[in-house]
Amino acid sequence: MKTFRNFIGGEWVAPAGGEYFENRNPARWSEVIGRFPDSDARDVERAVRSAQRGFEIWSRTPAPIRGEVIRKAGDLLVARKKEIARAMTREMGKVLTEALGDVQEGIDTAYYAASEGRRLFGRTVPSELRNKWAMTYRRPIGVCGIITPFNFPMAIPTWKIFPALVCGNSVIFKPAEDVPHTATLLVEILLEAGLPPEVIQLVHGRGETAGRAIVEHPAIPVISFTGSTETGAIIGETCGRMHKRLSLEMGGKNAQIVMPDADLELALEGVLWGAFGTTGQRCTATSRLILHRQIHDKFVKMVCDAAEKLKLGDGLKPGTDVGPLINRAAREKVEYYVEVGRKEGAVLEIGGAVPKSAALKDGWFYKPTVFTGVKPGTRIEQEEIFGPVLSVIRVSSLEEAIKVNNGVRYGLSSSIYTRDLASAFKAMEALENGITYINAPTIGAEAHLPFGGVKQTGNGHREGGWQVYDFYTETKAIYADYSGKLQRAQIDTYE
Ligand code: NAD
Repeated sequence: MKTFRNFIGGEWVAPAGGEYFENRNPARWSEVIGRFPDSDARDVERAVRSAQRGFEIWSRTPAPIRGEVIRKAGDLLVARKKEIARAMTREMGKVLTEALGDVQEGIDTAYYAASEGRRLFGRTVPSELRNKWAMTYRRPIGVCGIITPFNFPMAIPTWKIFPALVCGNSVIFKPAEDVPHTATLLVEILLEAGLPPEVIQLVHGRGETAGRAIVEHPAIPVISFTGSTETGAIIGETCGRMHKRLSLEMGGKNAQIVMPDADLELALEGVLWGAFGTTGQRCTATSRLILHRQIHDKFVKMVCDAAEKLKLGDGLKPGTDVGPLINRAAREKVEYYVEVGRKEGAVLEIGGAVPKSAALKDGWFYKPTVFTGVKPGTRIEQEEIFGPVLSVIRVSSLEEAIKVNNGVRYGLSSSIYTRDLASAFKAMEALENGITYINAPTIGAEAHLPFGGVKQTGNGHREGGWQVYDFYTETKAIYADYSGKLQRAQIDTYE
């Protein structure tokens, strides 16, 4: 069995405590991918000292040159796209086409970030005083702690790491325990692209040990976290107390609305992709389907007929539509919520069980599941399940659909299918989400647009697009006075 290492202090090293955890294939649990370091606070301490040295070099490297390194990383991702996607499917379970898309998002982010190295704009603004210039520029901040979830093993780390690096920061990267191999490949690529070794540190391990040590370390001023709202709350408390800069991207309970005038075939494709793609384990997964009563029965039948035909299996096998859940705990959570749904009186239309087939028995598979008659306010309508479970809610108007969409504590993405321009624009304005799709599913963000959620999904920051560069830099204001005399702002101009 292959033993993997951390990357700390410019070299691949064993964890201080000598402990490791196993990474297994969720489609075939008996298959071990490798042993990865179960790091602790001592490893984080070493990583911080190294990242501080890395910051000294990197923050003084011109931003366009930093961007060039990220561009090369993008080229290497292109060259190794298939190999990385296969490794991702093997440890995460999503079907290969989706894993290729996940790597592609990293490539898109790399090229966007590379060009940002030549942009990182400040502003020059008029001063209110004579012979004085006023301007702003962006400064790198320092060591950034990057903590990521299992579901987008390449896209999410690159959304965070590439902008952090282009802005001149150094990085300590703690990937999710279930996807450490893809993270290792990403760090290899950054090094091959020419990133000075001490600028990146890879610390594998569990959240409560390695992750927590990063969040609590006083010399890491920036934390970027994507994961569950529960973990985000713990991290938020610590960062608030320590006055750290913190970006949180957390859970979702996203809904697709279908109006009576919608193209139902299109809406069907959307909901199948949104609800059962990545086995429902996307932050933007469609976990609620809000149907206008006029098309409710017809559309439910269309969804159930199509969902029952989806083929479960190993994501590496051609023809597979839905892979396994990530691990035992994830499947138990789905089973628990299906039981909750039954007890709450929702009608189980399809699924609601582990598949019986012998070929699937060694993986964490679960049948695509649809509940109808789900009432707003019930637990399966409110809580994030993170699996292939779709809750259908019947409504009588657009206003009611919007109210149902907004009646949860999360606010990541939403979608509406309608041919009516006025309905689309009303929804666009009224849906309380960071992202709204019109005639497209709740999933499908592009790397050059801001990504993030409102309410308890986020804390006001955005990943991706141009906005993330604000998170990874401090804006500094400069006043250059060449008048040769004391000029008093707010006083001398108005005397
Ligand atoms: P998780 O919260 O269990 O873990 C995320 C990361 O945090 C992992 O690396 C984990 O090791 C680490 N962690 C756990 N406890 C920690 C602690 N006390 N201190 C520091 N780090 C800690 O989430 P997950 O199961 O990997 O991912 C699924 C969740 O992520 C879902 O809720 C999903 O909605 C959310 N998610 C959100 C977005 C978004 O952009 N909003 C994107 C993807 C996933």
